[in-house]
Amino acid sequence: MYKNADEQLNLRSMTALEISEVLKQNGIERYRGKQIFSWLYKHVDSFEKMTDIPKKHIEQLYRLFYIDALHTSNIWASQTDDTQKYLFTLDDGHTVESVSMKYEHGNSICVSSQVGCKMGCAFCASTQAGFVRNLRPSEMLLQLEYVIRDRMKTQPDYRISNVVIMGIGEPLDNYDAVVRFLRLINEPGGFGIGYRHISLSTCGLVPQIYRLAEEGMPITLSVSLHTPDNVVRSQLMPINHRYPIEELIMACKEYGRKNNRRISFEYALIQGVNDSIADARKLAKLLTGILCHVNLILINPIKERNFVASTKQTQVLFVKTLEENHINVTIRRRLGLDIDAACGQLRKSHMN
Ligand code: SF4
Repeated sequence: MYKNADEQLNLRSMTALEISEVLKQNGIERYRGKQIFSWLYKHVDSFEKMTDIPKKHIEQLYRLFYIDALHTSNIWASQTDDTQKYLFTLDDGHTVESVSMKYEHGNSICVSSQVGCKMGCAFCASTQAGFVRNLRPSEMLLQLEYVIRDRMKTQPDYRISNVVIMGIGEPLDNYDAVVRFLRLINEPGGFGIGYRHISLSTCGLVPQIYRLAEEGMPITLSVSLHTPDNVVRSQLMPINHRYPIEELIMACKEYGRKNNRRISFEYALIQGVNDSIADARKLAKLLTGILCHVNLILINPIKERNFVASTKQTQVLFVKTLEENHINVTIRRRLGLDIDAACGQLRKSHMN
């Protein structure tokens, strides 16, 4: 359970059942837990506004729980597509970013899981200013809540069809909070988002992938692979020193087998680094026999690095080589590039 310094419980980080238990222990009817839980997902943020909660309980509820909030510090709207990037300020003044994107299959929201990131991937802006702290489940939920609320101002029938945990931070490095967040957004009476509509992106924390495989939540695991070569991967992604490609692939196989899910491998094509035909062949060999899909991404510019996206011709050859070797592959559309909302471009430094 998440508590503040005054020992009050963080209401938004609790399931309906947990709220009910606390109420029961404190002499309040158990069924009120469900009522309170569902109000939180109707954009209500105080007990006074929960119209079916008797006034006599309100003082006691505030003694037991606190309801946290975010502050929307900025919103950038892309001029080229329907992407919007949000800068949220947390209660301790730190900032995180979220992105709403529109695809043919529906609306997607990308949330952050940490303030900063310790993983140090060479192509990523989120790690440049270091790691500050993990987000609470409520702070991840609030990103969804605030984005939905904002989008509903102009689109009253706005609905989310997918949630991706691919913003700032390595979600599996904040394992317990992220798993709790996943359970909360799946819970009926809340957002009720099916696990199959949730994707989690990881740089490859092998023990946590095995743990996640056992959680009984068949979300899509999206693994940042970026090269089939251990030497190159260790240069791009320091985590590879600890968990090399062979160990990562074994963990992915286990995840796919346990959850009957296709693994999504992310591969940012970087000119002269990982985009040769030999790389494509080696990648195909590595992934043969795995139920998977390769998502090719064109590396997005960040101002601290000199990586350049592969040419159109190289992309075509890379795709062709994978397809000839029976590997499912697509080139991902880059949304929100003009507002630094594309993959690897989110950062925590706006307020610094
Ligand atoms: S790519 Fe992901 S894991 Fe790597 S530094 Fe960026 S946020 Fe962290």
